[in-house]
Amino acid sequence: MSDNKPTLNMEQLASLCKRRGFIFQSSELYGGINGFWDYGPLGVELKRNIKDVWWQDVVQRRDDVVGLDASIIMHPRIWEASGHLEGFSDPMIDCKTCKGRFRADQLEGTACPQKPSKRVGACGGELTEPRQFNLMFKTFVGPVQDDSSTAYLRPETAQGIFAQFDNVLSVSRQKVPFGIAQIGKAFRNEINPRNYTFRSREFEQMELEFFIKPGTDEEWHTYWVKARMDWYTRIGIASEHLSQYVYGPDELAHYASACVDIMYAFPFGVQELEGVAARGNYDLSRHSEFSGKKLEYFDQESNERFIPHVVEPSAGVDRIALAVLCEAYALEWIPKEGTDGERQPTRAGEKVPDGYEERTVLRFAPCVAPIKAAIFPLLKNRPELVKVAQDLYSELKQHYPVFYDQTGAIGRRYRRQDEAGTPFGITVDFETLDNQTVTWRDRDTMSQERIPIGEVAIRLATALQ
Ligand code: ATP
Repeated sequence: MSDNKPTLNMEQLASLCKRRGFIFQSSELYGGINGFWDYGPLGVELKRNIKDVWWQDVVQRRDDVVGLDASIIMHPRIWEASGHLEGFSDPMIDCKTCKGRFRADQLEGTACPQKPSKRVGACGGELTEPRQFNLMFKTFVGPVQDDSSTAYLRPETAQGIFAQFDNVLSVSRQKVPFGIAQIGKAFRNEINPRNYTFRSREFEQMELEFFIKPGTDEEWHTYWVKARMDWYTRIGIASEHLSQYVYGPDELAHYASACVDIMYAFPFGVQELEGVAARGNYDLSRHSEFSGKKLEYFDQESNERFIPHVVEPSAGVDRIALAVLCEAYALEWIPKEGTDGERQPTRAGEKVPDGYEERTVLRFAPCVAPIKAAIFPLLKNRPELVKVAQDLYSELKQHYPVFYDQTGAIGRRYRRQDEAGTPFGITVDFETLDNQTVTWRDRDTMSQERIPIGEVAIRLATALQ
């Protein structure tokens, strides 16, 4: 973990996220609803940027992947074919003492609601035998609520892709190997949502089904694991905080030939961000069987007809956003204005040294930062400075999400943007009026340099590539 991480606790991060408008509890006005979260003005931009970078890298910059946006509620037979109706369940136990319900395979990390210092079971409460609980949310389509109108909110986006495989293949002029990608909401009635947004009941997924020729599974699986690992470093996650969990043969689903989970070292443990699975032809075969329609591919080169195999990288947007926030969060001691000294990471439990103050900073990679740059006139009561700063702001705003702030001392304005994770600060001061240069401040190093005002846009463009 990087130097600041020992000081990171999830309560502090959650409090910053609420205070700065990244994440709010859903329905907070009514006491909240467990497992659901809302993203505020900065959070929505962060999530959108993560999705945009994924879409660019996985779809737009490739010739062999196309996109899809399937509906959330689909024909219930899809969930029969996929196996979700029968098998998408977690083992649940009840505590007869506190009436709580818990995931039987996660008791280790679950506190007793009545005696939080003890874990469920170790608190003396009597537990029932585990029973299987299906995680799909049910609803009804149309005015009559009976078995024939039952439908499900999708627990993953992937099945929409398999169900539209034939249509997409016929319109996209793609040849195997090729992929279909989708970003969208998924819903799981998790028994114990926990670890902030990590395990929620409503979340977003970014999934790719990459269809391949049978026999090339291993090669393509290796390719996608590497591509996906590299992607996380592109959005600012240090490679030393990433790891892989490789499934053993006895852990794989019967149809899968390989599966690797991409893991991140969260403050609450090393946990999955994304799974990359080689699923054989299971999904297309099952949909073919249940729909009675052939879902095959004709390979003109080899004159062969086959059901493509698939490699599936499946990632959760909310978990990635949380990892990005954990990774970016830092507390450091900085010398007060006019004092000499070096920036240093906060040492947990120690007082801020004399001559220093503490700053909170979110060190987002520029590509995911909600605001790319903030523009400040040095003083708000000097119209000549305000005019130049506002003109620059209006120009940049045509291309990037930028922020204008003229309120308060300049140091406090910088600090506010540090907390929002804005990578660059641009200040218009009296020298600007003389020589058309502005101050360009780097969030992470806090270093400042003067650059011509005419170079600001190109500087920003370069930093955001
Ligand atoms: P877990 O074992 O943590 O429940 P999973 O292996 O069931 O996850 P997948 O079905 O492989 O997860 O889903 C793909 C991705 O979707 C996960 O890697 C994760 O990023 C995201 N995801 C799954 N369940 C949730 C959830 N309840 N809340 C937030 N994200 C989730």
